[in-house]
Amino acid sequence: MKNYHTHTFRCNHAEGDAIDYGQAALDKGITVVGMTDHTALPDDRWLGMRMSISELPDYVQAIELAQAKYPDLTILKGMECEWSKDYHQFYENVLLGEYNFDYLILGCHFFPYNGSFLSSHSGIYNPKRLKAYTDFLIKSMESGLFAFVAHPDLFGLTYLTWDENTISASQDILSAARELHLPLEINGYGLMKKIIDTPEGTRPAYPWLPFWELARDYEVTVIVNSDAHAPRYLDLGLQEGLKIVERLDLKLADLDYLQRR
Ligand SMILES: [Zn+2]
Ligand SMILES: [Zn+2]
Repeated sequence: MKNYHTHTFRCNHAEGDAIDYGQAALDKGITVVGMTDHTALPDDRWLGMRMSISELPDYVQAIELAQAKYPDLTILKGMECEWSKDYHQFYENVLLGEYNFDYLILGCHFFPYNGSFLSSHSGIYNPKRLKAYTDFLIKSMESGLFAFVAHPDLFGLTYLTWDENTISASQDILSAARELHLPLEINGYGLMKKIIDTPEGTRPAYPWLPFWELARDYEVTVIVNSDAHAPRYLDLGLQEGLKIVERLDLKLADLDYLQRR
């Protein structure tokens, strides 16, 4: 099994470092571990959930140390990034360029709304906000910087009812993913750990099943990741996510090319 979405202690809400994930991968029979902590930002914005810019060299070094210690594993150097035109150059020139990251993933945790940024975790609870999230997510996808989109259906956390607005948002996201050939992630952390009560009953906040049922009508590829926030959760939801892929007959993305960079 492979997992391309993993966090370290540096984001302030996860445990462990790359070397601990290497050991967990051996224990759990995982062959590819992509490290994708929440990115540092050049202006240290949204610092509560990410490493500071001064910690970036240490993060890179920690991954290289794990690569040296576990030569039989594929440990990849990645980051989970919020896109914005303000940070595009940083991602391209510093992370992918200077530091030679293997890949970046798009995590749209904030979106612009009425002149400021709102949290995608708590702020998407009406149609206007859902539209704003969707438009910004698609714009971020179009940047061309990312290997896949983490939890595209994150809106399921606070938008509780499946309706014509969620259908329209999902159609827009799925069309964009198809056109851009950008894989979409079924998120194991959400599947196993973010179970919420809604007027329609209890469900994982994300992956939100109707989104993935709709995905069958689009030629998109999908990837299942644990979004591990601790080494013991490195395989969280992977089997369960793959069952959804199988049941809905979705097409798995092939990310092996990242290992040959
Ligand atoms: Zn995320
Ligand atoms: Zn994540």
